[in-house]
This record gives sequence, structure tokens and C-alpha cells, in this order.
Amino acid sequence: MPAHIEIAMLDKIRIVLVHTSHPGNIGAAARAMKTMGLSDLALVQPKSFPDDEATVRASGADDVLAKARVCENLDQALEDCHLAIGTTARDRTISAEPLMPPQAAQRALQGIEQGQRIAILFGRERSGLSNEELDRCQLTVHIPANPEYSSLNLGAAVQVLSYALRIASLEMDSSEQKSDKANTSALDCRAEANALESFYQHLETVMTEVGFLEQTNPTLIMRRLRCLYDRSEPTVRELNILRGLLSATQKHRHPKIETETNDASD
Ligand code: SAH
Repeated sequence: MPAHIEIAMLDKIRIVLVHTSHPGNIGAAARAMKTMGLSDLALVQPKSFPDDEATVRASGADDVLAKARVCENLDQALEDCHLAIGTTARDRTISAEPLMPPQAAQRALQGIEQGQRIAILFGRERSGLSNEELDRCQLTVHIPANPEYSSLNLGAAVQVLSYALRIASLEMDSSEQKSDKANTSALDCRAEANALESFYQHLETVMTEVGFLEQTNPTLIMRRLRCLYDRSEPTVRELNILRGLLSATQKHRHPKIETETNDASD
């Protein structure tokens, strides 16, 4: 693959650092990204940024730091992204089995070939990503480190994932799927992560309204449903149908109350 195509693909990947405490780690992450050809960095409520320590550790990657976006919350950081991949140093119970970096990188690159933007989320140095933050991710990835000592330094974890992405971009044969993309309508593309999140909120509201969520553990049920829908990678058109169904359910129960309007007719 020509070098410029591979670089353009890596431009569609956003590294999101959530609540980073040590500015040095932000610099190390920027350096790790730049060595592998990535440049889109978003920082959700970093403890201190900009910071000299970050600039020092970035070494020559201060351009990545200079255009890093500081975000108030995950919604902002995930703007325009279709797929969010959460990194985890531990096994978590409910979410689907985490992928290994090469598989996660391959999934990310396949998404990019279909016109998607991808976010990879990294957690706090002390406690990683919260369950709620992992709920926002359709996939998770775990670096299969020494099980007795599996937590990498944040900058090192960014390096491993960035390397896997670079290798995947070099290996990917983009030519066939590109021609498919030209024929795909926007409605048949994968829905964005924030649109999926609005669907989950709407689903939870309706499930509560009809009394379904009262009886059992609502958080657990919602988490399992998220896994189910995340696995099916719904398109914009499919999500419109689901939102339409939810709105119709609300309208049926309360015909006089205005419900959210969703176009289920395509
Ligand atoms: N003590 C925390 C680890 C935090 S390490 C915990 O138990 O979750 C900081 C971040 O580095 C993690 O949130 C994750 O983004 C990344 N990281 C560290 N080790 C990793 C591993 N083995 N696989 C994937 N990500 C890892």
C-alpha cells in the first residue's frame, strides 16, 4: 500500500486519554503516537495540561500535543466516532471477551475502510476506565501481559496499541473494499457511537416506562443489552428503525404526549 494511504488511515484513529493524572504520561503517549504515524489526541479532563512535563516527555512530538483537544467529557471526545474501543488491564465480568491488540487493530482498520472514525480509550493510571466508560465502548482490548503483573504504564500501553495499528495498516489490502464504499449510502453506514448512546438512553427510558426494568437489576440488564446491540454493529438505518419503534411504543402508551420524533421510514 502506498505510504500516503496508510497515513491517511491512521489519521482516522483518535487516542482518548481519560482523566490522566501525570502530564508526563500525556507526553509519552504523544511520542508513542507520532512514532507510529498517529496524530489525533483527545484528553478528557486531564489533571494538568498543557504542562512542561508533558512537553519534555513528548520529545519531538510537541506538534501532537499542540493540536490535542481537551474535552469536558466523553461525549465531546467521541464526537464523529463510530466505534469506541476501550483498553483494559484486567478482565471485566459483563462485557464481551476483550480482543488482543492485532485483532482490535484489524477491526479498527476495517471500520476506517468503510469510512468510519475510531476512538481508542485509555484509562486513569490508578484505576483504569470505569465500568460506565467501558459501557461506551463497543469493543474492548487487553494486552496479554504477564497475568501476575499485567498493568502497563499508560504511555507504554499507547505504544503497543499504536504499533498494532501501524502493522495492521501496513498489512491491509485496501483496494477491494474501497470500491464497495463508494456505493454505500450514508444510511447503510455504521451508526456513530454517540447515536448509539442516545438509543441506549431512549431504550432505558422506555423499558422503565413499561415497567420492565423495575423487577430485576437494571444496570446488569442494560449492560447485557449494550453487548447485544454493540455486537450487531447497527447501521444508521437500523438505528432509525429501533428509535422509531421506541417512539411508537411511547406514543401508544401516551397518545397525547409528544415523543421524540425519529424517522423509521428511512
Ligand atoms: N490499575 C489499573 C491499570 C491502569 S493502567 C487497572 O487495574 O485497571 C492505565 C491504563 O493503561 C489502563 O486504563 C489502560 O488504558 C492501559 N493499560 C495498561 N495495561 C494494559 C493492558 N495490559 N492491556 C490494555 N491496556 C492496558
